[in-house]
Amino acid sequence: IQRTFSIIKPNAVKKNVIGAIYHRFESAGFSIIAAKMLHLTREQAEGFYAEHKGRPFFEGLVEFMTSGPIMLQVLEGENAVQRHRDLMGATNPENALAGTLRADYADSFTENAVHGSDSIESANREIAYFFAEDEIC
Ligand code: ATP
Ligand code: MG
Repeated sequence: IQRTFSIIKPNAVKKNVIGAIYHRFESAGFSIIAAKMLHLTREQAEGFYAEHKGRPFFEGLVEFMTSGPIMLQVLEGENAVQRHRDLMGATNPENALAGTLRADYADSFTENAVHGSDSIESANREIAYFFAEDEIC
């Protein structure tokens, strides 16, 4: 059993598809073991995406991620990191396969609806960035 970290990004929250996306998580066999809604500060967004600092899309990404509330989740399941990536689809929604979350809910490369950890190490770091251990059930 493995944990991964998920964000429902501002464009998807604005579309009122939190429930639809939670249904997709649960139908795919994930358990939601922690959740919270936050409106990120610039500092929180820059810190979360620190690995991308200096990339051409960084400023737009921080602007977008601070543009409205987001939902944060810890998902638990077998092979959770990879299976969640598969459920999300490609980062660039133009390449996202039909039936993936990004194919259904992304608006652009930056406004691609959802985030998911890309490794177990990233998942551990990202979960700890937003959740205290006693907030995870
Ligand atoms: P995420 O980390 O959100 O799950 P990812 O791991 O597939 O997605 P990263 O390379 O970590 O993608 O990029 C983080 C986020 O930055 C992307 O989800 C997207 O919102 C944005 N992004 C990445 N590359 C680009 C780009 N070339 N143009 C515009 N936005 C981008
Ligand atoms: Mg990433």
